[in-house]
Amino acid sequence: MRKKICIIGSGTAGLQLAYSLKEEFDVTVIHSNSSDKIRNGRILSTQVHFGSTRTRENRFKMPKWEDKTLLKSIHMTIGNQKLFVGKLKEPALSVDQRFYFSHCLKDLESKGVSFRLLRVNKQRVESLVDEFDLIIDCTGKSGPLFSFPIEKEFSPFQVPQRKCIVGYFLGVKPVHPLGISVTVLPEIGEMFEIPAITEQGPVTILFIMAIPDRELDVFKEIKHEKEFTNQMKNVTKKYFQDIHERIEQDIFALSDENGFLKVAIKPVIRKPYVTFKNKLIVGCGDSVFLNDPITGQGCNLSSHCAEQLYETLIQYRNSKWDIQLGETYWNRTKTFVKEVTAWTNAMTQVLPEHVVQTLLSGAENQKIADEVAEWFANPRKAYEAFFQPLH
Ligand SMILES: Cc1cc2nc3c(=O)[nH]c(=O)nc-3n(C[C@H](O)[C@H](O)[C@H](O)COP(=O)(O)OP(=O)(O)OC[C@H]3O[C@@H](n4cnc5c(N)ncnc54)[C@H](O)[C@@H]3O)c2cc1C
Repeated sequence: MRKKICIIGSGTAGLQLAYSLKEEFDVTVIHSNSSDKIRNGRILSTQVHFGSTRTRENRFKMPKWEDKTLLKSIHMTIGNQKLFVGKLKEPALSVDQRFYFSHCLKDLESKGVSFRLLRVNKQRVESLVDEFDLIIDCTGKSGPLFSFPIEKEFSPFQVPQRKCIVGYFLGVKPVHPLGISVTVLPEIGEMFEIPAITEQGPVTILFIMAIPDRELDVFKEIKHEKEFTNQMKNVTKKYFQDIHERIEQDIFALSDENGFLKVAIKPVIRKPYVTFKNKLIVGCGDSVFLNDPITGQGCNLSSHCAEQLYETLIQYRNSKWDIQLGETYWNRTKTFVKEVTAWTNAMTQVLPEHVVQTLLSGAENQKIADEVAEWFANPRKAYEAFFQPLH
């Protein structure tokens, strides 16, 4: 008999797991929002899927997206000084999660995966644990539902390090070559400009990471779309002139009334397995590996760990599912989780001098510029550059 798996949460991790596991196991996905509600709701993220994540999406036959907005480079600016354009080895893509998630839900349903529309609470958890051979907690940043132990060494912050302020805009002329633009304003925050696709067509995401209570943290009182757009104009005029010059004033507007978001995340890393009523429970994605979005690694880390969990479950297909499986999964993911987290946490602090020097060298040396671009696609390289410099 096929083992029965319940995935709670239908975001980046839950969906990839459902695609990968559906051939070998009986998969049920529990989700708190219908596909239409997601599609018509507020934006969720800025979601850059780098090359390795796109390769996994292909591997598990996930939907393909129009590739008119492939991101092939990283544009790096410090203060008002544009340093370089580094080339990515493989292109990345940002697809509005409202479009991506709602489309995948419908596609999976048509492929025979069972769904239940339900917001799971701690009481419902007990009966689900009795019903299924394994629960995978993919509840994202609002989770977890289970007491996965915190890894204190990699969870150093008691409060969020940034305010995340995101808007999906029309009327920003794109950079050339098309790519992600990163602007670091030391001691006040960062701006990420990301060309993306939505169901209605291309947009430009403007994503401010404001250090709390400093100069960029000026969206606190803003609730409505027009005020948000005006404040974004003010902020780009004052701090991000390159973007401001590319704004087409007469058409600059949010892509839709739900096209903006304000959130702050306290990063927490947890050991991704626990036992409950003598059964193994595992976690995947932000529910257990929650980082600040500053390095844009959330989707890639979720996708990487979802693939490792898939490989572990296949390995244990005919064995007992107990803590041994949980430990194997954690051993497969631990190093990568810790490297991504260490790099991401370091990016929220004052940059080390040798990293600043590397960024400045990128302005003179295209090879270094390309290597820095690869940090985002392959965060192990970033970890080495930050923590294991050659000299
Ligand atoms: C502002 C911002 C910007 C970001 N930018 C980037 C970026 O540029 N690049 C990048 O890679 N990542 C980025 N991220 C992070 C990325 O979005 C997440 O890491 C990724 O979506 C995590 O996937 P997940 O499946 O763990 O969680 P999610 O995608 O959040 O999915 C969680 C799912 O669980 C469901 N759920 C939650 N609780 C319950 C419950 N009790 N019962 C049933 N269902 C439940 C939710 O409805 C949702 O469907 C950003 C995040 C934010 C907030």
